[in-house]
Amino acid sequence: MFAVGVLRGKPGVHSFELPVPEIKQPDDVLIRVKEVGVDGTDLNMVKYGLQDIAEGRDEMAMGHEVVGIVEEVGRGVKSLVPGDIVAVTVRRGCGKCHPCLHNQSDMCMTGLYTERGIHKLDGFLTPFAVEREQYIVKVPEPLKKLAVFSEPLSIAEKGIEQIRLIQSRLPWSCPHPEHTFLSPEWGKCKTALVIGAGPLGLLATALIRLSKAYTFNADIVPDDSPKANLVKSLRAKYIDSNAMTPVQVVEKCCAPTGMLNIIFEAAGAAEPAIRLIPYMSRSSICVGTGIPRGDIKIELDAAELVRQVVRFNQVIVGSVNSNRSHFEMALRDMGQVNSSFNGILDRMITHRFRIEDYQQAFDLTDPNHIKTVIEVEPWE
Ligand SMILES: [Zn+2]
Ligand SMILES: [Zn+2]
Repeated sequence: MFAVGVLRGKPGVHSFELPVPEIKQPDDVLIRVKEVGVDGTDLNMVKYGLQDIAEGRDEMAMGHEVVGIVEEVGRGVKSLVPGDIVAVTVRRGCGKCHPCLHNQSDMCMTGLYTERGIHKLDGFLTPFAVEREQYIVKVPEPLKKLAVFSEPLSIAEKGIEQIRLIQSRLPWSCPHPEHTFLSPEWGKCKTALVIGAGPLGLLATALIRLSKAYTFNADIVPDDSPKANLVKSLRAKYIDSNAMTPVQVVEKCCAPTGMLNIIFEAAGAAEPAIRLIPYMSRSSICVGTGIPRGDIKIELDAAELVRQVVRFNQVIVGSVNSNRSHFEMALRDMGQVNSSFNGILDRMITHRFRIEDYQQAFDLTDPNHIKTVIEVEPWE
């Protein structure tokens, strides 16, 4: 079958042939792939030649944001039947550590995990894929045309889950008992800043807005750009931080209430993220989900930074990947995200390509590009 991905030792993205996968274990499910989203990880793999192909192989299919239809199920499969619409998680555990053995391979302790389309396992830029039942999440029929966002939205869900779990240690200080971090409207009486207005930053902004937090989003694109307009349609305040210092950004966020309680870093902007820390409010949290590339050397006052973190009970936490529970949260919230913000998910998809035109999807230079979807087999 036709496959798109990386070839050992050859820069760029290529097409090649792979055997059609077959059901081998009782819990295997054969999936007909419909759509695959392209994200920064995919683009960087191609742009910087970051290959992690399994030993003994010379190729690896890419694509880890997938929605498809169940074609056939193994005799032991209980929760899925042919025709079901499905999304698939990305990481496969190391089989050794406690988190991986308990459905939390996103928290793997050994680093010996693999990931479909990223680390050693074939991804989904192919017409068919086989996966075990436990890694497949059923998509409600009305969400099928949005479900290509299951994986990126699950990443935002995990980051926000970390914030809520960690901050629930605080006796939250507003006078409303229903505004604690574990309440449904946990964002009320809180100010949040999301750094980055790419797909992940927009999805995080959307989820934080659903929690009713007063929300800012900072990026370096102009105030009238498509990304900034999507931030505004989330009823969040856009900050063009291009010519601003970190303290100016924080001052802007703090102006309404005097506090900035939550920072969600979704751009991999290493220097701004580090420089913001000394200006964070008391008992605030910064969750990092963006992964910076290369070396960025800066000079900073280490004593000031550590003093501040200690004296203000601050938390700086990283959040990577996601597990099945986060996909379920994503699918629970997806419809509400789209309907609450005027079809935001539909509007985030700026480019669509048929799989045959994969080269164009990876060559895009459009500065207004937000999300690319590759159609492996269009919805009828
Ligand atoms: Zn592990
Ligand atoms: Zn309150």
